[in-house]
Amino acid sequence: MNLYLLIVIGILLAHYFLETIVDFLNIKSARGDLPGEFLGFYDNEKYNKSQQYLKENTKFSMVRNSIITILTIGFIFFGGFNLADKFARGFGFKELFTGLIFAGIILVLLKLFDLPFSFYKTFVIEEKYGFNKTSLKTFVLDNLKEFFLTVLIGGVVFAIVIIFFQRAQGFAWLYCWAAVSLIQLFFTFVGPVLILPLFNKFTPLEESELKTEIENFAKKQNFKLQGIFKIDASKRSTKSNAYFTGFGKYKRIALFDTLISAHTVSELVSILAHEIGHYKMKHILKSIIFSIIATGFMFFLMNFFINNRPLFQAFKMDNLSIYASLFFFAFLYTPINLVFMVLNGVFSRKHEYQADNFAVSSYKKPEDFVLALKKLTVANLSNLTPHPIKVFLYYSHPPVLKRIEAIKALIK
Ligand SMILES: [Zn+2]
Repeated sequence: MNLYLLIVIGILLAHYFLETIVDFLNIKSARGDLPGEFLGFYDNEKYNKSQQYLKENTKFSMVRNSIITILTIGFIFFGGFNLADKFARGFGFKELFTGLIFAGIILVLLKLFDLPFSFYKTFVIEEKYGFNKTSLKTFVLDNLKEFFLTVLIGGVVFAIVIIFFQRAQGFAWLYCWAAVSLIQLFFTFVGPVLILPLFNKFTPLEESELKTEIENFAKKQNFKLQGIFKIDASKRSTKSNAYFTGFGKYKRIALFDTLISAHTVSELVSILAHEIGHYKMKHILKSIIFSIIATGFMFFLMNFFINNRPLFQAFKMDNLSIYASLFFFAFLYTPINLVFMVLNGVFSRKHEYQADNFAVSSYKKPEDFVLALKKLTVANLSNLTPHPIKVFLYYSHPPVLKRIEAIKALIK
């Protein structure tokens, strides 16, 4: 058996078992009794419901992972990539366009696989727990928009990488790194203005006590805002959130309408103070730098796997090509990508504590902030007691009880 085939299958199975074991541990660690901090926020019935929700979601992702792992291995073993390649070559284009057709076929297959799962998640699970507000029309439109955005942006990136590897030989990875980093930067700046409005309506927050409080707070912090917006998140889900986008003059704050309706003014300003904290402490900039470094590392390694004959044999390919090399490399890169994801999570959780710290020391209403965190947790039925391994591998935010503990330690 081809060594690369063994490695690829090994990576797929190891990843599958890792996720399954972690999910299993996570379910086990969901305790029956309510943590004292949440007495009065959860009644027994609702707390049970949140644990049911966790179990149902975990079971769902286990089934999905099992099916995707089996199908992927089958697709590799039965030469699915070669069939797609033969079909793409049938059009008789040069490498660039053949590559785009090849990538298009794989993308469509992935999307078709994902659709029934995403349908089930939205209209069965989220519906059952009272979160779902998505209409069939919104669901179809969302999927179409996402698909076309992926084709458009992904297509451009894919084409750039193929062209550089065709022409620049040894330096191709450096050019790819520079180009993709620029594209990433471009979207961090204009994404909020160009892409997010395709999915949500942004309405400037009307004159109100809330708006005045936010403006006063921002002024005190020397924080220039381009706008405070309300977005119509309630057309998809009752779940709530707030975020902050843009740089320099284009800093905007977006509040989910679902958030505004569930919290008091002081709670909302505390949440915003946390978001402003991320900006003040340059967390967004740091995470962009981190992702640029990770991208560079990926292109550097990719360099060694372009038109690698044994790797192509593992995927039962008749012909070598730069475009298929990119897909096969992605399989080998999975474990390294996981390492970068875990590192990213470590930084991100540290940043969350720092932003909480900023919110408390600048707005000085820790009780309201803790209240806001608790209400958010209950409203989203978040897991109060995730397993530490689950947190370490996949969480971008610390578990809420740890955050509350840290906030209380600050004001003692
Ligand atoms: Zn945060």
